[in-house]
Amino acid sequence: MLQFKNNDLCIEQIKLSEIAIKYGTSTYVYSKSKIIKNFDNYKKALSPKEGFICFACKTNSNGAILKNISKLGAGADVTSGGEIYRCLRAGFDPLKVVYAGVGKTSEEIEYALKSKILMFNVESFEELDLINKIAGRIKLKAKISFRINPYVESETHDYIITGKKGTKFGIPYEDALKAYLYAKKKKNIVIAGIHSHIGSQILKTEPFKLAAQKIKKAVAEIEKNGIKLEYINCGGGLGIEYEKGQKAPSVKQLMSELFIVFDEDKKFIFEPGRSIIANAGHLLTKVIYRKVSGGKSFLITDAGMNDLIRPTLYKAYHEIIPVKKTNSKKIKTNVVGPICESGDFMGKDRMLPVVNQGGYLLITCAGAYGASMSSQYNSRPLIAEVLVENNKTMLIRKRASYKDLLLNEIK
Ligand SMILES: *Cc1c(COP(=O)(O)O)cnc(C)c1O
Repeated sequence: MLQFKNNDLCIEQIKLSEIAIKYGTSTYVYSKSKIIKNFDNYKKALSPKEGFICFACKTNSNGAILKNISKLGAGADVTSGGEIYRCLRAGFDPLKVVYAGVGKTSEEIEYALKSKILMFNVESFEELDLINKIAGRIKLKAKISFRINPYVESETHDYIITGKKGTKFGIPYEDALKAYLYAKKKKNIVIAGIHSHIGSQILKTEPFKLAAQKIKKAVAEIEKNGIKLEYINCGGGLGIEYEKGQKAPSVKQLMSELFIVFDEDKKFIFEPGRSIIANAGHLLTKVIYRKVSGGKSFLITDAGMNDLIRPTLYKAYHEIIPVKKTNSKKIKTNVVGPICESGDFMGKDRMLPVVNQGGYLLITCAGAYGASMSSQYNSRPLIAEVLVENNKTMLIRKRASYKDLLLNEIK
């Protein structure tokens, strides 16, 4: 929760400039109450139905964040063995863990089975064969849903569309029944439900509704063939307002529209990631240098594309706010990182007041796909993460050292 108190930008009750001085920069800063509020929206909207909310933990896999979310009663949507490991360690009930991904390896499948997760969201016939085989070998049954690609397009970045014809995700819509009939014959497979996830940062309810209508049709056809589905998993993908003028539907609106389509008594799973954590986290950074080049004003920050790759990777927009309010006039500014790539920018052509060398900026709404996508590129140690609750701060990830850069290297 961000607000100005006098001239200081605060997260909950704490001045961001104080956090910068105490923990250094650049640093990811999260608001606990915002996480709780975002999660509560989902819980309330789902309450007319049975089921649960699985946090998509690829969006932010910090142990303290996961622990706090698991304490709210969330399940987890995981995409790798490593995420299963993190989630179990953070206290998630394995019976609320669902596992998607087009490329689960045999090691990951065995680990998931032994961890007794609720189910696999299976994305190909060959994956189903392998899960069946491994389950047989270790004498366990594997619960599954198929991830069905409902062929729905949504206006989002090409890299985060998943429910369109011709992407690598899921089982093609026309093969849905065939997949379930195939799975029914497998000895070690227990069919539990159906899954779809159509993409990310979707700002309209229509694509979700279209997907729901198609999934509903598939469910009817599958059940007509004597296969009962206990769960309908609607995936994640609801967008957030990164930029002024963007409008995201509320969770309540989205779910009430979906529950008009899905009027049946099933257990429902939702897998939100971004809409839980994105606007609860921000990247706090310092202006190292300023310069004018080619008629453009640059602020060079200590945060770079290795810390937050979204602008570089998706041309994503993050609003950038100086943490001290000034009355200086605004000038068109490029906010760039220190990395040796022209793609290393945080924001281009932003109207910002004059910020002095050593001043702090907040790159907002960076809680999802921020820290979890960071790397050590340019041999820059991973940065610190801080969780704020009211007037308290807690370090939830130490800033890495130069020595940490060498972890596991054999010289
Ligand atoms: C990434 C992902 C999500 C979360 O998507 P958001 O847009 O962050 O809500 C949910 N389900 C699956 C299968 C995913 O891959």
